[in-house]
Amino acid sequence: MWTLVLNCGSSSVKFALLDVQGGQVRLSGLAERLGSAGASARVEVDGARRVVDLAGGSYAEAFAVIAGALDELGVRAQVGAVGHRVVHGGERFSAPALITPEVLAEIRACVPLAPLHNPANIAGIEAAQAAFPDAAHVAVFDTAFHQSMPEVAFRYAVPGDWYRQHGVRRYGFHGTSHAFVAVRAADLLGRPLSELNLVTAHLGNGCSVCAVQGGRSVDTSMGLTPLEGLVMGTRSGDVDPGLHDYIARQAGLSLSEITAALNRESGLLGLSGLSNDMRELEEAAGRGHAGARLALDVFVHRLAKQMAGMAAAMGRVDGLVFTGGIGENSAWVRGAVLARLAVLGARVDEAANAAAVRGQSGVISAPGALAALVVNTNEELMIAQQTQTLLAEQKGVQA
Ligand code: ADP
Repeated sequence: MWTLVLNCGSSSVKFALLDVQGGQVRLSGLAERLGSAGASARVEVDGARRVVDLAGGSYAEAFAVIAGALDELGVRAQVGAVGHRVVHGGERFSAPALITPEVLAEIRACVPLAPLHNPANIAGIEAAQAAFPDAAHVAVFDTAFHQSMPEVAFRYAVPGDWYRQHGVRRYGFHGTSHAFVAVRAADLLGRPLSELNLVTAHLGNGCSVCAVQGGRSVDTSMGLTPLEGLVMGTRSGDVDPGLHDYIARQAGLSLSEITAALNRESGLLGLSGLSNDMRELEEAAGRGHAGARLALDVFVHRLAKQMAGMAAAMGRVDGLVFTGGIGENSAWVRGAVLARLAVLGARVDEAANAAAVRGQSGVISAPGALAALVVNTNEELMIAQQTQTLLAEQKGVQA
């Protein structure tokens, strides 16, 4: 049976059709710029790529393209399950959920916590339900993995009513990726996940670290929103909460203008004045661009501090895991962070580190040092697996 995995953003739909057992991907792609005149979809069917114009730029049109590709493959009737990535599940969801009208209402109730993401996820679910009415639709939440965090890790030191009445607490994101790479890292180390304390670093356009103890998240760097924590492509990560009031008065900005600047004009882009793209910044720093150099150095400084902090959250650490576009490809970032983390007993194996790029997973630490690994994340496969696991459990309950 095939599982269709959907990741719907405000102007995009990322999709993949996977066979969970074999891990085979027959169809994948990305519909972009939805809602605008230039909307298009990149579709890869059995390895052959094409680009399709989406004249009306609607979700429904994007789903018609996906359905057409499924017909072409002759597998539309075999798509029994659709797994949806949903960003925010609040405190309600600590595991994937079969999407019923009640579950959809609860996802809607989490909209104030993720005003940019959850409405897009809901629109995507509704369009997919219309396009695939006979399939079981399952929501897999970015926040769910972190619901195991203890209160000491998830509470902010703010007035208690903010938590009790408004849900102000740390939720964490990238849960699917942190959970997936922890399992893979245990395999690579040849040790049971239940015995391992791992610090996982998901470093893509968004970045977060997680303390994974025995396969459960016990702390993470993102909080109420995906803005907290590390320096990211265009996101600031941690700033002084006093910044808002100060810059509002100094620069005459509104709260929403400040939030937008912290989300879209900050991070590597803001520091470098050049780009949000790590590869481009490494090249520019190599040519002597001072802003790019500073951006790289601040990125590594903050990442090393956060990873050491995650180790302290667990008391003992058995492995450091790097993933995401930067974690999987930037030997420089990994090497620089591991040099800082000598304080934890880390030491890089230069040759192994240099070789672990472009899809190569493996151990990059020197013999006898704290284990450090590169693991390729695969959120689509994890969403498909979680979708099928939930459906199998529900069948078991019914039988
Ligand atoms: P997203 O979070 O959007 O899925 P990715 O996980 O693809 O993003 O990560 C994108 C980041 O990975 C970019 O900053 C990009 O520059 C970086 N990256 C990709 N390849 C390399 C590379 N060879 N060297 C350094 N950084 C890289």
